[in-house]
This record gives sequence, structure tokens and C-alpha cells, in this order.
Amino acid sequence: MIVSATVHVFSVCWTVMLKNSLMSQKPESFTCDSTSDPAPVASTSSSACVPGVAGLGFTLLLSLVVGCSPRDRALGQGWIDVTATLDPATTPVYQGDAPMKFDFLKDMRKGDKLTLSVYSLGAHSGTHIDAPMHFVAAGAAIDQVALDPLIGAARVIDIPDSVQAIDAAELNRHDWKGAKRVLFRTRSTLRGWMDSSLFHRDFAYVAPDAAQLLADAGVVLVGVDYISAEQFGAPAPRTHQILLGRGIPIVEGLDLRPVQAGDYDLIVLPIKVRGHEGAPARAILRKRTHQEPA
Ligand SMILES: [Zn+2]
Repeated sequence: MIVSATVHVFSVCWTVMLKNSLMSQKPESFTCDSTSDPAPVASTSSSACVPGVAGLGFTLLLSLVVGCSPRDRALGQGWIDVTATLDPATTPVYQGDAPMKFDFLKDMRKGDKLTLSVYSLGAHSGTHIDAPMHFVAAGAAIDQVALDPLIGAARVIDIPDSVQAIDAAELNRHDWKGAKRVLFRTRSTLRGWMDSSLFHRDFAYVAPDAAQLLADAGVVLVGVDYISAEQFGAPAPRTHQILLGRGIPIVEGLDLRPVQAGDYDLIVLPIKVRGHEGAPARAILRKRTHQEPA
């Protein structure tokens, strides 16, 4: 919390310093009032933080210490999109699921006065979230899934290309304990399968014994990088039943090519559809550079 507050204060200071540098071009001593409210500071020329050469150097030094520019954090930069782009030409559809259809009803490129389109797609298309209702009769629908599991610290774990079954033994080869949200970066990412319309049956999956370990450890979200977390052709949907039975949403179909293994902040938010068992989602990650509450 202390580090978090510090970063916030420097973010505010940095913004004001830049503004004042542009407005006054006068070197002044560096002071920082950590109690000032950022809104009025940003909207007036009165300054809580005034830059001097020493102050600028000090801030740059602290930027290196926290690992990123305070200005970047203030502007919300550093987020990496790990959503598979929905495109009927490249998005895989699970065997037997509904085909995706994207059509333009009107198209300005063809002389219409506006552009208007329509989508038809399965609820489990591309990057999406399975709500408990998917495999639990009385489970929560997608519009009832709490936000807490969907926003916060997440650990990306690299699973080698040779591994198809992420079972308990494979899981325990990796540093996953203590993580609140676990995302598996597997052969599916290495082979670019979320960007390939051909459906691959031999995607890596979370085996039931690993799902049990994750659920028992208090993990609040599990993510995989292909359109199902379950083994293709599994005799029973045990992995789904174990995770969803504990109320743990599953993110499926992540495209984790832009990230490496490590700790990130995650935001993954599904479309809010009343009473359905799943929905496409947008997922973004940002490298964690400091300790914050998970
Ligand atoms: Zn699904």
C-alpha cells in the first residue's frame, strides 16, 4: 500500500511538473505536497509540485526504482492486449459449436449512408469467460459473476510445448503457489492457435487433479490460451465441474503471444448478457513492477 501510494503521488507530481514546465519554463525548487488533491492541481496553474533540475533528476531516479515512468502509470499505459481478435477468417470454433457470422447490413464503403453490421456467434467464441452456469445447474450466469476475480494480480505460467496435460505433477513443476489468478501459456500460444481458424484437438488442457489443487489453494480465476480448459473428448467435464463448482470463472481463448511468464495485473471483462453461461471478453495484462494487494 505504501509503495502504491508513493507511485500515485509521483504520478501526480510528474503530471504537474510537465504542465508547469510547459507553462512557466522557470526553474524553481522542487517541493511536493502529498496531501493535495490531484483534480484541482491539474486544473489550475497553482502547483503542488514545482520542478527544478534536481527535482527532475530525483523523479527520474525514482522512476527507475519503481521500474516504469510515473507518467505512464498515470496515463494508464503499459497494458497489453491478450484478447484473440474475433474474425470468422481466423478465429477457431470448437468442434460442433455454432459458426461465426459477421455481416454488414449497410456499408459506407459501398455507397450506403452509414455502416451497420450484425454478429452471430457462439457465447464461447474467441477470448471468453465460462460462468458457473456452464456446468453447474444452479450456478451463476455471466451477468452475475463478481468483478473481484476478473480484476487483479495474475501469474502467467509457461507450459512447455511438449506438454498437453497440465496435471498436478506438471503444475507443481512451476511456481504457482500464492497466485490468486493463474493463466497458462501453452503450446496453443506457441503455435498461434487462437489466430488459426482450424480447430486443433490436441490443445493443452487443465487436468482435473490440477484444477482441484488450484481450487483448494484459493485461486479465484483460471485462464487458458485455447477455447477450452478441458481435454478434448474427456469422458466427463471434471475440470469445468471442479472450478465452476467452486464459483471460479474460467477464461478461455486468451492469446498470450505478447507476454512472457511472470506477474501481471489482469483485467478481463465479459459482455454482460443476462442469464447466459458465458460471454466473449476483453482481456488485458500489465506487468507488475511492485507489490500491490492481489
Ligand atoms: Zn467456454
